[in-house]
Amino acid sequence: MINFVQQEIENDLKAGKYTEGIHTRFPPEPNGYLHIGHAKSVCLNFGLALHNGGLCNLRFDDTNPTKEDVEFVDSIQEDIKWLGFDWGDRKFFASDYFGKFYDYAVELIKRGLAYVDDLSAEEIRSYRGTLTEAGKESPYRNRSVEENLDLFTRMKAGEFPDGSKVLRAKIDMASPNINMRDPVIYRITRATHHHTGDDWLIYPMYDFAHPLEDAIEGITHSVCTLEFEDHRPFYDWLLESLGFDVNTRPRQIEFARLDLTNTITSKRKLRQLVEEGYVRGWDDPRMPTLCGLRRRGFTPAAIRDFCERIGVAKSNSVVDIAMLEHCVREDLNDSADRVMAVLDPLKVVLTNVDDGVEYLTAENHPKRGGSRFVPFTREIFIDREDFMEDAPKKFFRLKPGGEVRLKHAYIIKCNEVIKNSAGEVVELHCTIDPTSKSGGATAGRKIKGTIHWVSTKFALPAEVRLYDYLLTTDAQGNMPEDFIAALNPNSLIVKQALIEPSVRWTNAGTHYQFLRLGYFVVDPDTTPDKLVFNRVVGLKDTWAKVKER
Ligand code: ATP
Ligand code: MG
Repeated sequence: MINFVQQEIENDLKAGKYTEGIHTRFPPEPNGYLHIGHAKSVCLNFGLALHNGGLCNLRFDDTNPTKEDVEFVDSIQEDIKWLGFDWGDRKFFASDYFGKFYDYAVELIKRGLAYVDDLSAEEIRSYRGTLTEAGKESPYRNRSVEENLDLFTRMKAGEFPDGSKVLRAKIDMASPNINMRDPVIYRITRATHHHTGDDWLIYPMYDFAHPLEDAIEGITHSVCTLEFEDHRPFYDWLLESLGFDVNTRPRQIEFARLDLTNTITSKRKLRQLVEEGYVRGWDDPRMPTLCGLRRRGFTPAAIRDFCERIGVAKSNSVVDIAMLEHCVREDLNDSADRVMAVLDPLKVVLTNVDDGVEYLTAENHPKRGGSRFVPFTREIFIDREDFMEDAPKKFFRLKPGGEVRLKHAYIIKCNEVIKNSAGEVVELHCTIDPTSKSGGATAGRKIKGTIHWVSTKFALPAEVRLYDYLLTTDAQGNMPEDFIAALNPNSLIVKQALIEPSVRWTNAGTHYQFLRLGYFVVDPDTTPDKLVFNRVVGLKDTWAKVKER
């Protein structure tokens, strides 16, 4: 693992800091499902711990009672485990530290570094100043330690209404960094918390709680995204003010968040898609959530590989989603068995084949081998796309009078095209070259195209869900607020397909390559009576083209 965070860790170790070992954390707020952006942070934090022989905690950063829910606490754990990481017995909740946070706030007051302010939220905002103008001190700023202690105790006891008072750090209203202009560190909120119930009426602000959570857990390197860079001075100020030793206390390091083209990595927007019914749920295979990607058939190995390849940078950029798909394709190319399925069936009658069935041997995987039987019959289906009546010269699939090889079977020749009254092609009549199958006298005959097929009699019906990008735009970095308008109307296309019978007893989560069509996974909607597949990713080139080279 070579990245700048690792470099910082090595510098710290060389400088004699953190002699007890390296300790990181992944700190999700349980207010939504994890998405591909979180995967980057999970891989980085757990990866740094693994690489340095250290530990990584899972910490639910649940200091905001109004937006959080246990549903998310459960799903987050499932998703991290699925990605392949283990927090051991170190699952923590920031809300378990509410008592300690309170004590630290009292300590700040005692040191003359915090005060209770009666200004309204509105007034605090207008007193704060701007980037070019210094802020103004609150008239309550110079309350005595005794008065502050008394008021803060009474805030906790519920003597004041919501929003009527706050506790603020006492730093510098003229600081060029607005985050240092006496930030609010506690507010009064009468809300039921999913973990602590109604125990607390005052809640700490994120910037106050986070450094303390890190310090309480003995975190050494607190890795977060770039938008917190301007908050780092307060992080350091707080730990310094409370007397934490600079050689052992945590330090914050910021890295660039992951943004991907054609999708969304904002929890708020993903929630909107779910709540307003634009997708079928958090695990809709079009969603960039980890549960969505899992259902879509993306593998943990591919996602970890992707996170490693994109690296860790100090400036934001947008990664092409095609790179993630590339990682998935590489993984599935090695692991998925090959089968044949037809998405848009066109019937072909092989007029020189008898009724009955011939079982042909088909290879499961080009590298791993293995084989199965595929039933071959007088009537088969091919994909409509593989036939063209007025075909251009370069069309190497089936055309009137032309020949093509049926994968694992015979060379066939198209003799007759049957149409309905509307002039649409409904059936082809072909003949096989009986000696052209593997091992036969004309097996080696050069034929440019090879197509897939299934037996009409033995094929299983299957619902196949084809997915396209969630967003039609690739400008995710500066997406308009109205991203709903950019949703791709064709992101889901459902096909009633036919698939070879070897997959009959398959299980949800099993991957296949449908020859020439892409990688597919069995969806959990599958029942004993109905197979359902999701397309994971397409193949880069069609099988026929790859063969040609
Ligand atoms: P919120 O706005 O609700 O805070 P969030 O996406 O930051 O949303 P958190 O639960 O706070 O969600 O995130 C947990 C961790 O994952 C944080 O350390 C955060 O920095 C990191 N993270 C979140 N989104 C990304 C992303 N797109 N790329 C990399 N890391 C991310
Ligand atoms: Mg966050």
